[in-house]
Amino acid sequence: MGQVFRSSKHSHEVCIKRAKSHATGLAESTGKKFGANQLLVLDILLQDHKAISAYEIVERIARIADRIQPVQVYRALDVLLKLGLVHRLESKNAYVACSDHEKCETPQFLHCSSCEQVAELPARPFLK
Ligand SMILES: [Zn+2]
Ligand SMILES: [Zn+2]
Repeated sequence: MGQVFRSSKHSHEVCIKRAKSHATGLAESTGKKFGANQLLVLDILLQDHKAISAYEIVERIARIADRIQPVQVYRALDVLLKLGLVHRLESKNAYVACSDHEKCETPQFLHCSSCEQVAELPARPFLK
């Protein structure tokens, strides 16, 4: 499993850039524009590969911008989830930014309990 989780030395700016250009492409192809809250929530989730709760998102937004209500965060998450830019980890009730749009269909997640990092695996049954 050594290669599944990203090393702390990987250049995360590349992840962010890739995710953002994917988001921009989606917005262009659907003729929609992201709202300010949606962009903020996406920014927060793109900071690393960890899954965080909606309330954590509210707190982190409050540190960099005007505080918004949890219901606004949920609304923004809804949109991002539908676009596949963000995934929800049912078991933790937490959210993580999609880490690989090219391989992403119905991903499975590996969650590291010590570093809190989430790795996305292509949907394919594990071999027994
Ligand atoms: Zn990264
Ligand atoms: Zn994904």
